[in-house]
Amino acid sequence: MTGHNTARKIYLRSSSVYSVNHRVIKVMDVDRDSCWISDGAAAPQWVSIDFGSKRLITSIAVYPGRKDNYRTLKYFKLQFLKGDWFDYATIQIRKKSFFSYSYRDRIEIDLAGVDASTFRIYIPADAMIDRYASIAEIETFIGPSKITFFDDRLKDLCLPIRNAYLPAEDYCYPNALRAYRGGRHSGIDIYSYHTDDSYDPVPVSDTTPVYAVGGGVIIRADHDYVPTNIGEWKERSAYYQTHPSTFMRHSFGGREVWIDHGNGVVTTYNHLSGIDRCVRKGRRVSKGERIGVAGNSGLSGEAEGKRYGIHLHFEIWIDGNYLGYGMAIQDIRKYFKWIFSKAR
Ligand SMILES: [Zn+2]
Repeated sequence: MTGHNTARKIYLRSSSVYSVNHRVIKVMDVDRDSCWISDGAAAPQWVSIDFGSKRLITSIAVYPGRKDNYRTLKYFKLQFLKGDWFDYATIQIRKKSFFSYSYRDRIEIDLAGVDASTFRIYIPADAMIDRYASIAEIETFIGPSKITFFDDRLKDLCLPIRNAYLPAEDYCYPNALRAYRGGRHSGIDIYSYHTDDSYDPVPVSDTTPVYAVGGGVIIRADHDYVPTNIGEWKERSAYYQTHPSTFMRHSFGGREVWIDHGNGVVTTYNHLSGIDRCVRKGRRVSKGERIGVAGNSGLSGEAEGKRYGIHLHFEIWIDGNYLGYGMAIQDIRKYFKWIFSKAR
């Protein structure tokens, strides 16, 4: 089970990193195959997790990592902070049996309930095998519920546009201000993608197919969408700048499709120029199934009868909040990158 609040702040730090691919975020990326690895110095190494405020913690699970497929740890210490770091427990990973060593792949430390805001996994120099320290995952539990950085529910989604580039500009991410409607952005804007043969960016056009990022049930499909003219559009835009919280059935999202993936996760696809005929409210779709084509519906470009501004505006809603709500832009970027990372 996972937590329900993606806006939760968790600060991860480490003594060192081996490379950009082995950063400390790997210990909370819900992927046991990816590891944090230290830089190979003989100094003691550590990974700290800071929740920023007191947490009730009932147990901590550690999955020791590997480097080049070799195990790296003989033991580690669990430390908490009380003025200085102190050893709470020393945990052996490597155990000598009569014939050889055996290793544990998952170690759960039962804390019987403590109240702490931060802890760290500390690896003394003599605990490392061949100078490297590596950890695959650290899980923190409050009873059966796991405190995670990323939410497991979002880990198997595919891109809504094949080979899409995540936007470079902060403006295209959640929380960016949208002056024309007096609100904030609640999704990401995808303007380009690449083909299978080249990484050259290709602009999203009104023939670019849009796909369901995961399996689910269609809860909205605007087959009845009617475009506005530019006069109406400007009037509406002016109105919402002073009345941003007013109810709107057809917002500036234009022709939209919403998919309920269950478990509190909903995705929306906005500004579509067309929705596929079989995409109807109540119908099931599978991951990667085509639902329509990108466009500029709901935007001033469409209202003027022009083709500028074509892109896919895509939102992820989780437990009623859009992904990114209350989060810093660098964490939001990290999050979207994690969701759509092909490496996983
Ligand atoms: Zn947008």
